[in-house]
Amino acid sequence: MDLVSLGWSAGFVEVFAALEAPELVPGRVAVEDKHAYVVFTESGSRSAVVPGRMLRRVVARSELPKVGDWVALRVTPGSDLAVIEAALPRRSRLVRKIAGRTVEEQVLAVNVDLAFVVMALDASFNPRRLERFLVMVREGGVRPVVVLNKADLEADPSAYAATARQVAGGTPVVVVSARTGGGMDALCRELRPAETAVFIGTSGVGKSSLINRLYGQEIQPTLEVREHDAKGRHSTTWRELIPLPGGAVVVDTPGMREFQIWMADEGLDEAFPEVEELALSCHFAGCSHQQEPRCAVLQAVHDGRLARDRYAAYLKLKRELDYLAKERREHTFQGRRTRRPPRPPGQANANCKDAWLDEDDA
Ligand code: GDP
Ligand code: ZN
Repeated sequence: MDLVSLGWSAGFVEVFAALEAPELVPGRVAVEDKHAYVVFTESGSRSAVVPGRMLRRVVARSELPKVGDWVALRVTPGSDLAVIEAALPRRSRLVRKIAGRTVEEQVLAVNVDLAFVVMALDASFNPRRLERFLVMVREGGVRPVVVLNKADLEADPSAYAATARQVAGGTPVVVVSARTGGGMDALCRELRPAETAVFIGTSGVGKSSLINRLYGQEIQPTLEVREHDAKGRHSTTWRELIPLPGGAVVVDTPGMREFQIWMADEGLDEAFPEVEELALSCHFAGCSHQQEPRCAVLQAVHDGRLARDRYAAYLKLKRELDYLAKERREHTFQGRRTRRPPRPPGQANANCKDAWLDEDDA
């Protein structure tokens, strides 16, 4: 296997070299199932595990290796099972928030360059949802491309495309049909060799069909098939890191299929560039654009220069973001408290004994 076409780039080479562990080999996680992994390496794919020492050290599940992570493997001659000694820092990550008593984050995909945000040209088409997907993607440091699929169902997809372009700002929009193959060239042009892509979008929009198209044959089960087998999750054909014939990689994990948004204000500004532009002229620096005097955003809504539904979507998203940011702050604070405290010099504290244990075994 050629690591470079799997996405192995200068940045990763550098951090790997900094480990100063010539006996370890680099690899990319292709399947993750609880603590059992399949890792692609130069010499083929290997089953691997994480050592107990790593399991004990992590604070959140999201710190454990995920599909798409680059790792340093210890391969012992004569043993089928390799050991993941270290995971290299992630270049990008898509996460979803798990709502519960506290907000937790679930890492959906890591080290992704490009996200195809898929919408179907049917009754499920929803510009607001598209907006939210785009925010999440940009927030994760990933480049989005909007894909309008099922163009074969629509005699004239141009109205959909125009709406999508309005929402997408400068983000490319491609109109395709996974069924007929129409528009697939344009989609392929967005994906450069050695890049890693994900397909995100709600269930049924055609993500698996598009991946199969890109691959050139059936590799992932589509909806009809999944409905009849046990979700396809453990079928022998299921893979989560899929090297494409053209030299790029697609990540397709079950977690990609359902998620909510988790993001920050930067993403919000990017999703609503025209609001951001207007906001520069607001009288007050911290203007919330809701009741302040001399608010340029409110003025634009009043004059009809900013559509009311865009404005409403902006406020709604901003409210959600504020809420999430607050939850996240509280959550991280709790996380910190449970994290191993720094060892006070020469001072023993019986309460902290357990928390320090794995510092010694590291
Ligand atoms: P996923 O849940 O997003 O992975 O969606 P699937 O790829 O499983 O597709 C869901 C359904 O939409 C299946 O019945 C597909 O055959 C159908 N489908 C996918 N792409 C197209 C398309 O371009 N046109 C039409 N008419 N149907 C499609
Ligand atoms: Zn304002």
